Amino acid sequence: MKTTKTIKLAEFGIEINIVEGGASISSDLKEVCPYCKKIECYCPKCEAWYNSIQDSSDEIEKLVKEENRKSFNISIDALESLILAHACAGIDVEAYGYVEGIRTTLDAISTQYED
Ligand SMILES: [Zn+2]
Repeated sequence: MKTTKTIKLAEFGIEINIVEGGASISSDLKEVCPYCKKIECYCPKCEAWYNSIQDSSDEIEKLVKEENRKSFNISIDALESLILAHACAGIDVEAYGYVEGIRTTLDAISTQYED
C-alpha cells in the first residue's frame, strides 16, 4: 500500500500513516510489561512476572498493578483511535489547540490510573 500521508507528533511519539484504503497509528504512550518490557504482555501470562512472585500477597499486589496497566493501555488505545479517526477525517491534528487537547486528555487518563 502506498503511504499518502505521514503525520508525526513527536511529543507523544505518535506516528500516523494514512495509506490508500486504510490508516494506522502508533505511539510510545502505552505502558510496557515491567518484567519483559513488551506492550502486548499481560501478566500472569508472563514468565518473568511469574518468576518474580515472592508470596501470595506479592502476587495480589502485582496483579492489581497489572489490571491498572491493562486499563491504562485500553484508554490509550481509545485515544489513539480517536486521533486516527480525526486525522482521516481531515482534522488538523498537528494544530496547537488539538495537541493541547491530547495533552489534557493524557493528564486525565494518567490521574485516573495513578498508583
Ligand atoms: Zn511480561
